[in-house]
Amino acid sequence: MSVPISQMWSVASYVIKQKLKGRKKYPLVLMLEPLLRCNLACAGCGKIQYPGHILKKEMSVEEALAAVDECDTPIVSIPGGEPLLHPQMPEIVAGMVERKKYVYLCTNAILLKEKIDQGWFLPSKYLTFSVHLDGDQEAHDFSVCRQGTYEKAEEAIRYAVEQGFRVTCNTTLFEHADVERTRSFFDRVMSIGVEGVMLSPGYGYSKAPDQSNFLNREKTFELFRGLFAQAKKNWKFNQSPLFVEFLMGKRHLECTPWGNPCYTLFGWQRPCYLLQEGYTETFQQLLDETEWDKYGRASGNPKCQNCMVHCGYEPTAVDATFGTWSGFWGTVKATFLGVNSERGKNIVLPPVTEFNETSAEDPTLETTERKLLEEVDFRGDALITFKDGTTDQGYLFNVTESQLEYFSIKQNQPQKSDRSEVEKVEKTGRDYADGQSWESWLRKHKQNKELESVSSYSLP
Ligand code: SF4
Ligand code: SF4
Repeated sequence: MSVPISQMWSVASYVIKQKLKGRKKYPLVLMLEPLLRCNLACAGCGKIQYPGHILKKEMSVEEALAAVDECDTPIVSIPGGEPLLHPQMPEIVAGMVERKKYVYLCTNAILLKEKIDQGWFLPSKYLTFSVHLDGDQEAHDFSVCRQGTYEKAEEAIRYAVEQGFRVTCNTTLFEHADVERTRSFFDRVMSIGVEGVMLSPGYGYSKAPDQSNFLNREKTFELFRGLFAQAKKNWKFNQSPLFVEFLMGKRHLECTPWGNPCYTLFGWQRPCYLLQEGYTETFQQLLDETEWDKYGRASGNPKCQNCMVHCGYEPTAVDATFGTWSGFWGTVKATFLGVNSERGKNIVLPPVTEFNETSAEDPTLETTERKLLEEVDFRGDALITFKDGTTDQGYLFNVTESQLEYFSIKQNQPQKSDRSEVEKVEKTGRDYADGQSWESWLRKHKQNKELESVSSYSLP
């Protein structure tokens, strides 16, 4: 694995301290989303489908650093959206580095060279650019739906490495990933100075345009066993060996959804980086008020059954490394011998419990309540009519027992209203996550000639 000793020590001492304090639930990596807009529109992305007034919003430096202080994890990851579109990203990163946080700035690298040249960042052991690369040129350009993106990202990686920055790759794999080409991709990125690759199977976002290419558990096992059969010694991965064993189906882990908490424009996201089931104002509220047993594979929650994403399982792997002898021994063995899918037995998945959920379809719900739940899941604006006859329009992002929260199109700050004051809620305008089937999405990009030279993938 590829992480420097000082970072490993920082994480190890942090985890040991949490254990000595007897903290059962502790965060490991803060996922900070300071904006949601992006300069790409990838087919598997479930993050960017919002009305324009939400995409224009940017978290302030003060708010971002307050979340860092509140959560106080040794590592902060900055996904998005595209963080390099945030004009105050230099101040946000500098504030984190000053606090000695190990920062992973996740970027598609389209603007990376330009921002380095503008002096946005200085090389530091605390700062790593985690560049989005979903495989080789053909696979990546297909995944991000724009030709030429791989070339640009590779050029930016070389440049950043030359300038003395730490660079890793953030690689999400989908059903169309080819084992041999992905293994060659590992060779390639190692040769250009990437410190390590962080691999993850794509999460099946219900809002993503391409719903047909997400991997289920069995297919994930098969893919990762192929990738790590006789894995080369010089391949470096920016993740725990136990997590890689989990991806190969050699070790069973359960999700730790509070391990990589997400702070976004709407607050602390419940329960994890992938699902959006409400927001809290403080991190402590997130820990105390979330019904954690409703999440993870063992809960039976259908949204978690095929999820094997690092934000849920890497914290479990790290906790097992420092909290159990078998985990510690497994990590030592894999560190010295390397990860190899030909070693160890394949696991048999344990059974899951039956899951019951109150959903927007529940026929017993009152009309307003059902509308509110539907609205929270809707990626468009709503018209809210209050009992005093006034109205407001905006993006409704949170509904609690007593309140609803929304970003009004008229005001910059989030608004709160008592639910008892609401007469009705109606969807207005378009759902930004709908009406874009994968076929029409792909056709549009083909027509725009953005995928002209992508030859291995054809229209359905
Ligand atoms: S996956 Fe990343 S690069 Fe692609 S659209 Fe989403 S935020 Fe942008
Ligand atoms: S299994 Fe995945 S989707 Fe479910 S809570 Fe964990 S990280 Fe979130």
